[in-house]
Amino acid sequence: MHRFSVKDDLQAQVAAWKAAGEKVAFVPTMGALHEGHLSLVALARTHAQRVVVSVYVNPTQFAPHEDFDSYPRDVNGDAAKLASAGVDALYTPDAAQMYPGGDMQSPVQAGTAAAGLETDFRPHFFEGVVNVVYRLFDHVKPDVAVFGEKDFQQLQVISEMVAAQSLPITIVGAPIARDPSGLALSSRNAYLSEDELVVARQLNVILRRVASGDIDEAQASEALIEAGFAKVDYVAQRWGRVLGAAWLGKTRLIDNL
Ligand code: AMP
Repeated sequence: MHRFSVKDDLQAQVAAWKAAGEKVAFVPTMGALHEGHLSLVALARTHAQRVVVSVYVNPTQFAPHEDFDSYPRDVNGDAAKLASAGVDALYTPDAAQMYPGGDMQSPVQAGTAAAGLETDFRPHFFEGVVNVVYRLFDHVKPDVAVFGEKDFQQLQVISEMVAAQSLPITIVGAPIARDPSGLALSSRNAYLSEDELVVARQLNVILRRVASGDIDEAQASEALIEAGFAKVDYVAQRWGRVLGAAWLGKTRLIDNL
C-alpha cells in the first residue's frame, strides 16, 4: 500500500493509474476505522481497479464545542487495516494540504438536501463536509467515491454537490454495517461505556418500530428517553427512511433505516 501525505505525490500516482486505463475509487474517512469503513473499501473495490482511502479529521465540520480534539485517532492502526484490506493508497493530508494558507473558506455550498435534520442541530456541519469533500475530490480525482448510508443525509448532500458542480464522479452509497445487536458501527461507539452500549443498542430497535408503523416519531422520541438516552435531537422520516439522532452522555449517535 502506498502512503501519501502530499497532494502532488498522490496525484502523480493516480494519474499513472489512469494513464494505464485503471479506474480509481475513493473512500474518504476520519479514521478510527471499523468494519463499516472496511465494507466501503470492499464495495469500492467492485467499482475500480484501484482504491484510495483518506484519513483526515476535518476541523471545518466540527463546531468549537464539539469533539474535534478528542475524536479517536489511530493512523497506524488504520494503515494496518487498510493494507490488509488490499487498499492501493492511503492519503493522510495535514491541514496545510487541505487548507493552504489557512484559508478555510468553502469553494462550494451545501444544497437543499442539507436543510433540516442534522443542520437543525449542527448548523455548520454540511458546509464543512462539502468543503473538505470537494477539496479531497480535487486532490484524488476519483472516478467513483463511496459513502455510507449510515450518514444518509450526508450521502444526499454529497450527491447533490457532485451534480451541481458537474463533477465526473459516480457516488455510490454503501449499506450500514451493524453489530450483531443491530447497533450501527461508528467510531464514536468507542466513547461508550458498557452500560451506555446497552442503551445504544435500542436506537435501531426503536427506529425499526417507526419503520413498521408500530409507533410514530414522537412516541419513538419518548421510547428513546425511556430506554436511557439523555436527549433526542430528532426522529424523522425523509427519503423513504426513518432517521434518528440522540445523545448518550456526551456522545451523539445517529442511525437510519
Ligand atoms: P467517518 O469516518 O465516520 O467520517 O465515516 C467515513 C465513511 O464511512 C462515511 O461515508 C460513513 O457514512 C461511512 N460509515 C461509517 N460508519 C458506517 C457504517 N456503520 N456502515 C456503513 N458506512 C459507515
